[in-house]
Amino acid sequence: MDIRTVGIIGAGTMGNGIAQACALAGLRAVMVDINDAAVKKGLATVAGSLERLVKKDKLAASDRDAALARIQGTTNYDDLKAAQIVVEAATENYELKLKILKQVDTLLAPGAILASNTSSISITKLAAATSRPESFIGMHFFNPVPMMALVEIIRGLQTSDATHDAVKALALALGKSPITVKNAPGFVVNRILVPMINEAFFVLAEGLATAEDIDAGMKLGCNQPIGPLALADMIGLDVCLAVMEVYLAEYGDSKYRPCPLLREMVAAGRLGRKAGRGVYAY
Ligand code: NAD
Repeated sequence: MDIRTVGIIGAGTMGNGIAQACALAGLRAVMVDINDAAVKKGLATVAGSLERLVKKDKLAASDRDAALARIQGTTNYDDLKAAQIVVEAATENYELKLKILKQVDTLLAPGAILASNTSSISITKLAAATSRPESFIGMHFFNPVPMMALVEIIRGLQTSDATHDAVKALALALGKSPITVKNAPGFVVNRILVPMINEAFFVLAEGLATAEDIDAGMKLGCNQPIGPLALADMIGLDVCLAVMEVYLAEYGDSKYRPCPLLREMVAAGRLGRKAGRGVYAY
């Protein structure tokens, strides 16, 4: 499939990063959000990000201008009609995504691909709500999109080989390194990462070591760039807790039970960096 125009729904953290990656790869990006302010903010984020690359001599000013010219910000869903693929990166809410995907499904040409960047919602379930489950797929980018090499490509039960192959080729064209994953809660990376963070809270709660030493241990002993407790503060303790609760409910396995200390900290409002206090004070 010849992908020249990528539709992106949501101009937030992930949406504008995906638009930037597409534009730098020479593709046209049509980025939709609900109001002009959100669209403007997304476009300004891309402009700022490209400007930093120019200042660091990693991008020519002319290439910056050409990339920006390839991104169309809009509030009109009809502008997505020209896209060969639409990547949905709107707020993580099942009902909202369902509504968006059903609407986009009616706009796209037959055979066009619909992808979701969801972190936690079943790709098979979202696909089943559209008229094109064979052309539906998960395309899970990592934050910040311009920096992170990985894209998890998630096959729903009905995703066709042709859809998978086209999305893999797109990820490669964006300069990413894709891995292919079957649909299941957490996919691969978050399935391993978040229980590891939860385990770090158990280790802390049992008083086996200080938070600083737990993080130093995982950094120095496992070459992790950031310790699991500091990472929890970045992600948000509430997000980590919510993810563990989804795993516990969906897999029905007690190995996913959230650490009581994690629950306590969330109940206390110690949500991490965004609250000024999590495991650490900021
Ligand atoms: P965000 O809040 O930064 O951005 C979401 C954007 O969606 C907002 O600008 C919002 O106005 C817009 N939106 C809401 N309803 C819309 C609609 N009907 N039509 C068009 N736009 C609409 O969120 P984010 O962090 O960019 O997350 C987006 C998706 O990516 C979520 O599914 C999330 O789970 C997933 N994700 C996030 C991360 C991360 O680290 N932030 C990583 C991987 C995947």
